[in-house]
This record gives sequence, C-alpha cells and structure tokens, in this order.
Amino acid sequence: MSAYSLPQLAGVLEAEVLGSTQHQFRFISTDSRRIAFAQQTLFFALPGPHRSGQEFIEDAWKQGVRQFVTYEKPAANYLHDGCFAIVADAYAALQNLAAFKRAQFNYPVVGITGSNGKTIVKEWLYEALHPFFAIVRSPKSYNSQTGVPLSVWNMEASHTLAIFEAGISQPGEMEKLEQIIRPTMGIFTMLGDAHDAGFTNRQEKLHEKLKLFAGCKQLVCCTDDEPVKNALQRFDGRLYDWGHDASCWMQVLSEQPMDSGTTVSVRLEIKRWQVTVPFKERTDVYNALHVACAMAALGFEEAVINERMLQLHPLEMRLQWQKGIHNCNLLNDSYSNDMESLQAALQYLRQQGRHQRKTAMLSPVSDAHVRQQLLPGLAQLLRHQGIQRLIAVGDAFEVYVEQYRGEGLEVSWFPNTEALLQQLPSISFQHEDILIKGGRVHQFEKVAERLQWQRHSTVLEINLSKLAANLRYYRGLLQPGTKLMAMVKAGGYGSGDAEVARTLQDNGVEYLAVAFANEGVAIREAGVNLPVMVLNCPPESFATLEQHLLEPELFSLQHLQQFIAFARRLGLQHYPVHIKVDTGMHRLGFDTADLDQLAESLRNEQTVQVRTVFTHLVASENPAHDAFTNQQLAAFDAFTQRLEELLPYPFIKHAANTSAIQRHPQAHYELVRLGIGLYLGAQPPDQIARLTTTVAQIREVTKGESVGYGRNQLLPHDARIATVRIGYADGYRRMLGRGIGSMYVRGQRLPVVGNVCMDMTMLDATAVPALQVGDEVEVFGPHISLHELATWCDTIPYEILTSIGQRVQRIFLQE
Ligand SMILES: *Cc1c(COP(=O)(O)O)cnc(C)c1O
Repeated sequence: MSAYSLPQLAGVLEAEVLGSTQHQFRFISTDSRRIAFAQQTLFFALPGPHRSGQEFIEDAWKQGVRQFVTYEKPAANYLHDGCFAIVADAYAALQNLAAFKRAQFNYPVVGITGSNGKTIVKEWLYEALHPFFAIVRSPKSYNSQTGVPLSVWNMEASHTLAIFEAGISQPGEMEKLEQIIRPTMGIFTMLGDAHDAGFTNRQEKLHEKLKLFAGCKQLVCCTDDEPVKNALQRFDGRLYDWGHDASCWMQVLSEQPMDSGTTVSVRLEIKRWQVTVPFKERTDVYNALHVACAMAALGFEEAVINERMLQLHPLEMRLQWQKGIHNCNLLNDSYSNDMESLQAALQYLRQQGRHQRKTAMLSPVSDAHVRQQLLPGLAQLLRHQGIQRLIAVGDAFEVYVEQYRGEGLEVSWFPNTEALLQQLPSISFQHEDILIKGGRVHQFEKVAERLQWQRHSTVLEINLSKLAANLRYYRGLLQPGTKLMAMVKAGGYGSGDAEVARTLQDNGVEYLAVAFANEGVAIREAGVNLPVMVLNCPPESFATLEQHLLEPELFSLQHLQQFIAFARRLGLQHYPVHIKVDTGMHRLGFDTADLDQLAESLRNEQTVQVRTVFTHLVASENPAHDAFTNQQLAAFDAFTQRLEELLPYPFIKHAANTSAIQRHPQAHYELVRLGIGLYLGAQPPDQIARLTTTVAQIREVTKGESVGYGRNQLLPHDARIATVRIGYADGYRRMLGRGIGSMYVRGQRLPVVGNVCMDMTMLDATAVPALQVGDEVEVFGPHISLHELATWCDTIPYEILTSIGQRVQRIFLQE
C-alpha cells in the first residue's frame, strides 16, 4: 500500500500545509471513532450540521493522529509534531484526494447507482466475480459524498477490478461522485421513490443519477421502466439493457418459480438460455439479473454465469449479536473474509462489545490479494482493536502463528473447520465477545451454531441501522443547532435499552430520557455517558440517580423540596434537574399557580440547577386539536418567560414529541424529544423491529372440528393447522384469536384459528402446502406492519411494542 505525505499533496488538496513534515499516511478517516492505525492516518475534520470537525481533531490527536485536513489554523502547540493542511472546503479536499488516487489506475471500474438495490447488486457482483479478479469495492453501503471518497481511497495497484456504489439525495451531487469514481462500466439498478424529497420530480432524479455514467463505455440496466428507457437513448456508450421487451439486449421470456429459487428464460442477442437464481422474491430475482447481465456484458459464458448465480445468497451484510454459551456474546458475520468487512466488524466489536476479553475466529482465506494485504499485519490490527485471542482456520494462517504470538496475540490454529469443530468443546470460552467471521463455503455457521446459547425461537430483531436512519430523518426536520433528546424509556419502547442507547450515542444524540432510575442504570452500565433525564423519580430513587449521574424530572413543589433536601444532605452542588410544566396533559407537572414559589425555591438554591424546563403536548398528531396545541405552547411560553425573569441563569426549553417535530416547527425550541419516530420511522418500511416465531407442528384437521381452548370456532373446511411458538405471555394478545390476527409466511398471510394460548398460537396454513416445521413466521415486520397489528388489537403501536414479553430474545442487527 503506498504512503503519501501532506506536503507532496498540497496541490491536489489546494491546501496550505503547516507544521511537521516527517509524517506519512496510508489511511484516511473522517470519523474519530473509526481510526485503526492512528500514526498512518490522515484525518479530515469535516464540518457537520451539528458539530464542527474541529471538535474531533482533539479526539483524533489523543489517539495518536498527527496528520489533518482542516479549514481552521490549529493552535501553535499542535504544529511541533502535527502536520495540518489548511483548506477552504474539507469535503472538496477529500473528494480531490480520492480523484487523484483513482487517476492512478487503469483497471475497469464498475459504478452502481439507482434508488434501491445498490448495495445488494454490488455485493452479489463481488460474489459472482471474485474468483476471476482481485476486487476492491465499497465497504458496507459507503455511497455518499464522504463514503465514495473513502471507498475509492482503497484502490491499489494489486487490484484488477473496482466496484463502487454511488448514492445521492439532492441535485448536484452525482457530478462530484462521477469525478471521483470515473466508472468505465455502469449499472443502473432501478428508479424508485427513495429520497424523493431532495428532487422536484422523478424525472429530475433520474436525470441526476444517470450523470454517473457520463464517461462509461458500457451500461447495464433494466429498461422495463419507460422513463428510464427514454432517458437512456442519450447514452453514448454500449447499452446492455435487459427487460421484457423484445428490443432488449437480454430479453426475459419467462420466470418460473422453483423449490429452490426462480428459473428465468432469457434471449441474449440470438441465443436462448436459462438461468436459475436462488431467490423467489421479485426484487431479489431482478437484482440477480443485473448481475447476470453484467457478467454477460463482460463476456462470461452462460455456463459460468449459471454456476456463479447459484452461489449468491441473501445479503447478510449485517452483523448479528447473539447470546453465546457461558455468558459470551457472539458477533456472527457470515460475510466473506475480505479486508473491508473484517475492519468493519472489528470496529463494531470494539464499539458495541460488552466484555473486556475479545476473541476473533476467522475462516480460511483463499483470496490471494487478501492473503498478501491482510495477513502480515493481522496481529497488529487485532491487537489495536482490543482482541486478545485469534482462532484461525486454514493453511494461509499457519506460517504466521509464531509471528502473531510474538506480537502478543493468543493464537490457536486449525487446518480446517472440521478440526476446529472437533476441538471446540475443549476450548474455553467465558465472559467474552467472540467475532465469528467466515465465508459460507467454509461452513462457519456450524461453529456459530455450536457456540450459541439455546435460542428461544421467538425473536425480536432490532435493526440498529434503521434506528440510525430514522434518527437522521428526524434530525433533518430540525433547524441546525436544535438539540435532540431520544426517549428510550421502557427499554427503548420494548426494543432493548443498552444497544439502542449506545447506537443513539454513537449517532450524536445530545440527550437521553428514560422512565425510571433502573432503566438509566442499565444504560450507564452499557457504557453510555450522555446526560440522561429520568421521568419518574420517587424519593427512594434519588440515591440511585445520584450514583449514576442521572437527572430527575421534578414535577411539583413537594417533589422539588424532597430533592433539594436530599441534595443538601449529600452536599451536592448544581445538580442538574428538569422542571415539568403541566399545560393541559394533567398528568404530572407544575401549574402556573406554582410559578412564584417555584422560582423562590430555586433562585438562591446552590444544590440544584435547572437544566431544562419542558411540557408535554397532548395531541400534537391531530390537526383537529391544533388550536389546543397552540394554547399549550402559549401557556408554556408564558410560564418559561416568567421563570427566565426570576432565575439568575438560563435554561433550555422543550415541548415537541415525534409528531410535533413533524407538524409543529414552532414547538421545537432549543431541544426536541423524539420517541416513537425512532422506532417506527416516518412510514411503515422504516420500523426497526421485526418479530418472528417458528412452526412447532403441522397437522391436518377435518371440517367441523375445533382448534385450541374453548371450542368457539368450528372449522368450515378441512384445514392444515400450524402451531407456532408465541402466545399472549409473549405479548401476542388473546383478542387476535379467531381470525382477527394473521401472520406472514412464504408469501401468504395465515389467519389465527381458535383462541391464542399462553405460549402457542394456531394458524390456518391450508393456503401454504409447502410450509414446514421449523419455518420462520413473521408476526410483524416488513409484511405486517406494527400499525396494522395495533389496529387489529384496537390500540396503538406503542402498546404493542412495549408489551412484547421479556422472554422473547432480542437480536440486534447492523447493516
Ligand atoms: C414518551 C414521551 C415523549 C415521546 O413521545 P413520542 O410521541 O413517542 O415521540 C416525549 N416526552 C415525554 C415527556 C414522554 O413521556
């Protein structure tokens, strides 16, 4: 990997370079929490909407970074040892640097864009092509104005093919990405509705996206969509389009569902050909066809394409935490063992890990490029990321065992997965985080299975990436500088407090709020150091609050006096508290009548200090009550104005919950409180939670018989009845019985038959003859939204989420 120095690149960066000239860098970073090799890293201090890059310089410096690109001159003491490139625009500098790197290589570069499917097509193309090329590709979904430069920076002379994805959210962005990627081959996945907000219409969005292909010689695309087809007539290079129209280069003649996937008959120029892809859902099949078409465009034979297509598997580009044996946590990553995904997994392990001790288990590495690039420095990389032990499988590692041990790593080596499985019972695993990383071909999932704690088969999956995306969405509705308090009460609305709180902290939330002190303690124990407001604090909980630096909501004069008395006893000074004002909810809070006495009590009080004053809106979601909402806000304004006059110091005001963030910008003040929106998103596909169970037994029951307790419903026809492992003790409400509720499996909704039992529910599975014992059944998720399930129960999604039983296992995903 080549090394560069800032003085040498001053022209490329359009920078004035100051300070020490002795440093060289190989890596670049824009995130001070993601620095692996600090001394060899160039750090870009990028200004963001809520924090300046300068704030992160200090953090990066402490980790050992000495090379920076920034837009402000640093203090003189940084210049003895540090090297700073001062630029007008740090984003432009990052992009110029990546473009400079790109220009050094002549191998083909595939650029992928489209509204959906970019990452999956990139990953599948990589899977299909990796036996034939040394491929560099975008890590994860790095496709933004910073993600693309970071991806392109990974290009090296030893690669023979690059695959990058490009995503945009507003006009003007794609031209910049095109300058950096300069793809020689393009793939356009599809034009959907995602990110419509930034564009005046679909046409503009399409036009903008197609700019990625300005310099491409080849373009792969589905032209079933008429506007796409028309727009592509202006494409200069060779078009390899596919679709159902006879004019396509690759025409789809038929799609035949099979047991194990879908067989697609195509006409390619004049040849007919059948390709089977191991998927049934239409979007998967079409994404796979992009890959097949791209392979054909690259000149691969049909037989080779067929063989590669069968290797594709559903994208598990997500890291899964699972409960392991002996109180271990497993981070199960069945991704391929390449450099980028290993780094991502290690960082995730370091940030989200629970235990001090950490083990990495790696499957055989076959890719020659990875062997050369990754293995020599592997021990250093692992040590840096806090890993003490490596369990390595395969011949590639054998020669390094002694070297790694010399570098301070505990190492166990096995020639193959079979040997590891045999020895597994004799290896000690105790209270540690274990990263299991390996390709499917090596059957590493068997290793994971053996280390898993016996899993309750009803599982609530929480997608932390979606949580972060929802947070970004609501942030986007705020004025710059408005702070955000995330409501994680009731265990993150039922989804799991520790992981949710940590994700929120990592994504820059300024404040958290919980309902009770013990919820705050759980968050502190998970390593979260954000300020936390606690909504419900009886005097017995004051000591716990103080021990964990949790901040009480105080709601009455009596409550205030109790807390002040407590604070005096402990000799506390300026302990942060929050004052709740009742403006119409009539639940908890000070009344206007209390105002003078409240101010009197606080004015000269040194033990506590009011950090914020807030109220809660009763019906901010409902336009019919907007007048009432405004009345609440007016009462709140009057209260806080008066209090501001009476108190000797300023405080923060807040009122808005999720729907007020969306509907009442005048209620944002300096801080908003985001709750349900984090968990449900702005529309059904964004909900972060998915609840699944499994089929325990299937039987045929004849017409006229009843199912389950009570005999309230006699079967109107012969039926195939499936018993699934969820009941009202898990939060699947009894009122969902007798056809009110249904669950989703294999493309069908199956109605509940009879009464829901405590731990089991019966479904009419007559419509799905292929259903098998052990199949996963969706209770809610992408096919049955929480909203819909809540409607069946005559309630709101908040209640459904928060009543999911504690025995239901939570699994956290990260994409
Ligand atoms: C729960 C809660 C919120 C969040 O409300 P959502 O509608 O879920 O956004 C805000 N403020 C207070 C005081 C709450 O108790």
